[in-house]
Amino acid sequence: MGIHEEDVAAVRSASDIVQIVSEYTPLKRSGRQWAGLCPFHTEKTPSFSVNPEDNVYYCFGCQAKGDVITFVMEKEQVDFPTAVERLAARYGISLRYTDRAEGEGRKRRARLVDTMARAVEWYHQRLLSAPDAGPARRYLRERGIDGDVVREFRLGWAPDSWDALVRALRLDRELAEGTGLARYSRGRLHDHFRARVMFPIYDERGDPVSFGGRILPGGERQGNRGKYVNTAETPLYSKSKVLYGLDRAKTSIVGSGTAVVCEGYTDVIGFHRAGVPLAVATCGTALTDDHVRLLTRFGAQRLVLAFDADSAGRAAAERFYAWEREHELEVAVADLPPGQDPADVAHTDPERLAAAVEGATPFLRFRLERVFADADLSTNEGRARAAERALAMVAEHPDELVRDQYLMDVASRCRAEPDRLRAMLERLRRQPAAARAARGRSGTGGRGGGRGAPGGDEPPLEEPPWLAATSTGGDGPRGGRAVADRPDDGAPPGGAGATARARGAAAGRAREGPAMEVLRHAVHNPVEVAPWLVEALFDDPVQREVYLALLENDTHGDALAAAGPEAQDLLARLLVEEPISEPFDAVRLLLMHVARREVAAVRLAARTAPDTARVLADLAELNRIIDDLRSAQTAAESADRLLAWLEDRVGDGG
Ligand code: ZN
Repeated sequence: MGIHEEDVAAVRSASDIVQIVSEYTPLKRSGRQWAGLCPFHTEKTPSFSVNPEDNVYYCFGCQAKGDVITFVMEKEQVDFPTAVERLAARYGISLRYTDRAEGEGRKRRARLVDTMARAVEWYHQRLLSAPDAGPARRYLRERGIDGDVVREFRLGWAPDSWDALVRALRLDRELAEGTGLARYSRGRLHDHFRARVMFPIYDERGDPVSFGGRILPGGERQGNRGKYVNTAETPLYSKSKVLYGLDRAKTSIVGSGTAVVCEGYTDVIGFHRAGVPLAVATCGTALTDDHVRLLTRFGAQRLVLAFDADSAGRAAAERFYAWEREHELEVAVADLPPGQDPADVAHTDPERLAAAVEGATPFLRFRLERVFADADLSTNEGRARAAERALAMVAEHPDELVRDQYLMDVASRCRAEPDRLRAMLERLRRQPAAARAARGRSGTGGRGGGRGAPGGDEPPLEEPPWLAATSTGGDGPRGGRAVADRPDDGAPPGGAGATARARGAAAGRAREGPAMEVLRHAVHNPVEVAPWLVEALFDDPVQREVYLALLENDTHGDALAAAGPEAQDLLARLLVEEPISEPFDAVRLLLMHVARREVAAVRLAARTAPDTARVLADLAELNRIIDDLRSAQTAAESADRLLAWLEDRVGDGG
């Protein structure tokens, strides 16, 4: 592992697990154990216990378990050697490394981080007190960023000088180039940042690894171009893997499952000031697969985009859908006032930011609402054009059931016959994606002579910066990687809790589908879904076991205890996942899925069945049930018919 075994053992026994855990959740003594609310999952009654004698913890709700080192790894999201180092530093244990090179590498990194930290402090003090920072202080005040915020985020000012930082920190060439703070040319070192407001960028552990420097308005001139510049890639900093603000947001993201993705540093600051500490931003680059993976490592299940997510059109949509499927995420768009940045809103109406995240709309819904808002729905022609544009967008979604839900919306908004739209949708799905996009755009052009929005929503000529140029390839709708190949690089080695959860998550990923959402409701809103549920709805044996465990036990704890290991993993996960749909909508989706399954079963049986009349009658009944499930007025009655049908079939032994 890199650190001598005896030293690791010494760290383990010197560390006070109750003290460490108490920094994340209050603990109360209960007999020889200590108990409290679990710091790994959301709960109202304590199910997390710490046993200081054995130096271990265990959660009855989510099965998180381990020792003091695992706890630090999990809560601070660090690897094993780093967790040991942090505890060693805290309890005064000195460490010996088994591998000299590894020890050297860690020492070098520590020197670079230390240099960055000194630079943060030096720039920060300049901003607070240097006379030449007056315009910068004024600029920040005008944007609503006062002294407290400047101190909290350690904002700084890089003076307009060739080498003020190099001289003040006495940087040598190795430290200067290793941190990207200065570069060597013509025999001397030059500061990288000049005449800029400095935003220090920390990695998720809270180590300073880079800066973003913003020029003051009117400050552009020869040799100082670009509104924002960052440090170059260094051993500390890789822009595709670092998210500004994640060090502050990670705990809240873990707790809420939501991450807000912004475009700018001041947007992130705005969200934090407004009491929404969930915001992160990319650092002058696109949102990459690595960024999304990083956010899911901190438990993000919902990404709320706080920028104009529609401007990249189809390419962005396909990327978001791929992430949704690959990482089991929901991508939604914050409900911000049109044309305003989160930073502006934080200044004028901070409460609006919380509401914007709360009321975020699923990405496809957001795009469709724009189509409807731009359309003239008062004429037949306007409705037909809107339906065409909307269907082209719906066709891009990879999930059939989701497409069908939106298709019903388009039908009612545009007063079109659903079956007709369904046939059109099928045709669109058979067309190559590029042709679909052209179709969607021709609709846009069609309203050019009419009531076009000012500024228009022409397809952009180039990709906006937050949309990564896809280098991984094969990430298109059908090219997603199989679940089994997913690298579990997020899971720290040796973390028992992490492994258990990774296993649970893997099981869940393989199973996502309408039954999963219904099970989430069965956990969180049992009264609303229970009347519609029967065992025969659950194909998957583990899902069925979870359903039965919930049905037969009075408490979640009893259900967990009664379930087998796989069902336990799944239930543990469902306990911490909130459903995102309306209960009955989830039930409808599952019932439609089951009815289609029954159609397939009847067809299969028909090959050997002597009674064709019965087969045809069954198929007709099932198709009627599916149609009626689609409409809100007939769904409940249709659901009853399907349940009766299933009961008959089970009675038949079929
Ligand atoms: Zn827990």
